[in-house]
Amino acid sequence: MSDFIQLLPDHVANQIAAGEVVQRPASVIKELLENAIDAGAEQIQVVIKDAGKTLIQVVDNGKGMSLTDARMSFERHATSKIKSAEDLFSLKTKGFRGEALASIAAIAHVELKTKPEDEEVGTCIKIEGSSISSQEPCVTPKGTSLCVKNLFYNIPARRNFLKSDNVETRHIIDEFQRVALAHPHINFTLHHNGSELFQLNSTNYRQRITNIFGGKTNEKLVPVNEDTEILKISGFVGKPEFAKRSRGEQFFFVNDRFIKSPYLNHAVVAAFEGLLKEKTYPSYFLYLEVDPKSIDINIHPTKTEIKFDDEHALYAMLRSAIKHSLGQFNVAPVLDFERDSGLDTPYAYKDKGADIPKVEVDRGFNPFKNEGVDADYRPGSSLKKETTAGWESLYTGTSSEEIESAAGSHMEFESEEVTGSLFENSEGKSENTTFQLHKKFIVSTLKSGILVIDQNRAHSRILYEELLKNITISAAVSQQLLFPLKLQFNAHEVEMLKQIRESLEQTGFIFSEISKDAVEITGIPTLISESEVEMLLEQLLSDLENDVPDNGFSQTDLLSRSLAKSMSVKSGTVLNGSEQQHIVNRLFACKEPGLTPFNKSIFITLTVEELEKKFT
Ligand code: ADP
Ligand code: MG
Repeated sequence: MSDFIQLLPDHVANQIAAGEVVQRPASVIKELLENAIDAGAEQIQVVIKDAGKTLIQVVDNGKGMSLTDARMSFERHATSKIKSAEDLFSLKTKGFRGEALASIAAIAHVELKTKPEDEEVGTCIKIEGSSISSQEPCVTPKGTSLCVKNLFYNIPARRNFLKSDNVETRHIIDEFQRVALAHPHINFTLHHNGSELFQLNSTNYRQRITNIFGGKTNEKLVPVNEDTEILKISGFVGKPEFAKRSRGEQFFFVNDRFIKSPYLNHAVVAAFEGLLKEKTYPSYFLYLEVDPKSIDINIHPTKTEIKFDDEHALYAMLRSAIKHSLGQFNVAPVLDFERDSGLDTPYAYKDKGADIPKVEVDRGFNPFKNEGVDADYRPGSSLKKETTAGWESLYTGTSSEEIESAAGSHMEFESEEVTGSLFENSEGKSENTTFQLHKKFIVSTLKSGILVIDQNRAHSRILYEELLKNITISAAVSQQLLFPLKLQFNAHEVEMLKQIRESLEQTGFIFSEISKDAVEITGIPTLISESEVEMLLEQLLSDLENDVPDNGFSQTDLLSRSLAKSMSVKSGTVLNGSEQQHIVNRLFACKEPGLTPFNKSIFITLTVEELEKKFT
């Protein structure tokens, strides 16, 4: 019998390895940034085109490579960073596998220009599909420039598998931010399709975080510091009241390397116990330093998990360090670390209903009656009182439904019969047919039994259909704000907002200005109040991030779903009779009254027969 086994040719082996190392453009960014940092660069510039699908270029002013090193760098398992297995336990560099450049060169058109400081001329190497197509001396500044074009040009399946430019750009920005946060002393820039996304100058940790996440971040940060024999912790946690609706701002770095650790995340969340509103996530930027011997990062080239020797000790230290900081900065109610969590009730007030402020108008007031008129006559003040009174009279005797339809948010019933036949007393005394249960359900009698509706879910369905309609036919009305609302966002969030701006404007938002890290809003949908805007947009951005749609239709859908979720009346809200009735009527005028936009059931019915069975 003849032998079958052969060694794979290098370019095939490289291509297979590339499948592990390079999953998407962001993986290339990560590898190149890490190489630049390992080379001691102080200045790193990143340029991408079409979300990195067409071009990724990373230019550094690090130590560069000699001609021989430049050629060697594309060989598999060629590295300057470790020499023996022992070195793995005292790793100071990001790289050590010697796989990245070989892998990238197997699946893209790569051009390397590099020059060490002490040499006159540099080296330029072009390589594609693992074979060098040209190599010549060139004039280039000290450092290294790596240009990666047409990623996956020879693996169409991979290329087609890439997500939309939006999604891929987000992955790139994520990687970029992680590296930039870990190395605040290095200058970084990131340009995408000619526009600057980040320009980060050398600074300290606090300022770097602020530069990345926007101007107001600074005042939200509480420093955390702890120094023990096995662990040094530094960094910041966000004040609890600024906790986000998404996990976007949670970062652990271990020995300057970004890592993910659900276990340590738990320790942080535990330190915040009792301080967070429901479904919010604290921001944190925590830098841990441990003995390289006590960790194993050799798990997988692209994985961000890490193995610690003594996880339990780290957990306890982290938790107590953060609790201590929160206490010291007076953001935690009690300082006792071992306190009973049942005592933590800073948000207990959230269930208390808010009183609607009353506008008191002195109708008898006439500024012209007074003698002192010319002394302090101000035209604005008298005018304001008059208009308030006028406004009130406009609506006296009008039902809440009419007010709503005047505001443009009224939804017409599809057919009177649908709602008319379903409910018992639909003619006349309809307000007696519903009541509220536990501030959560609306209960209504039916001809055949009873109907129990989840008020929050019902409202989200109503709003969802309304928003969908508004966005597609642009029928929404907006309320003008007296003063423009200025909200801070980070560069990436601003990019996302720009992309959905048109759809948002069709729901009633008016953006007067969108700058690099803030937006100015002069109009909002009639259905929401000004104080809700920030939370609502934050939720929307987080939803978009977690479920980025690729085409126009699903974007509209996602937007409507997210807004409907944020805007709907919550469980725990007291609804009066006509509000209950309103929700019931509008729900059954919906195209799909049975399910929320998230496919949860909205109501259940109990028939008389079912009830009777229970009594047998
Ligand atoms: P690793 O980083 O794991 O060593 P890479 O394939 O990423 O493997 O790089 C191979 C080698 O090429 C590195 O060990 C380093 O010596 C050299 N190299 C790569 N990028 C740069 C750079 N930007 N500046 C200087 N040397 C570099
Ligand atoms: Mg490397």
